[in-house]
Amino acid sequence: MMCEMCGKEMASLMQVRIEGSVLNVCKSCARFGDNVKAGGKQGAVAEPSVIQARLQNRERRMKTKDVYEGGEESFELAEDFPRRIKEARERLGWKQEELAAKMNERVSIVQKLEGGSMHPDDTLVRKVERTLDIKLKEKVTIAPVEAAPGKKGLTLEDFIKKK
Ligand SMILES: [Zn+2]
Repeated sequence: MMCEMCGKEMASLMQVRIEGSVLNVCKSCARFGDNVKAGGKQGAVAEPSVIQARLQNRERRMKTKDVYEGGEESFELAEDFPRRIKEARERLGWKQEELAAKMNERVSIVQKLEGGSMHPDDTLVRKVERTLDIKLKEKVTIAPVEAAPGKKGLTLEDFIKKK
């Protein structure tokens, strides 16, 4: 369970009323609100600015919860999409012609897809996914470019030396 105020993972949360809304929060955040169950104030009352800061944190976290910190996530066509299509089609016992007909596409399209010689656009990807009930895209995290001191990339010189 995640504290709705600071975002910490906690084994158990307390329900408190903070600024008019009931939140499930961890012990250390609970002191900023009224314990709903106990019906009274808990400990010291926090400065409004502290509450404000925590609520802002929470908002920010909710907005970015799908984005890996420091990186960027997107859905990319899986590298093994040709295999995924072929396997799913064979699992259903369909010939390439049948799959093509169901998608209202030419057989050559299916052949190209399974052969990996054609990268489907988004429309075709969705069509294949729907028809075969599979996923062709995967979540990819684009890590931020890191400065890695001491770890030099391969240069052309290294490459030649290796040969
Ligand atoms: Zn908390």
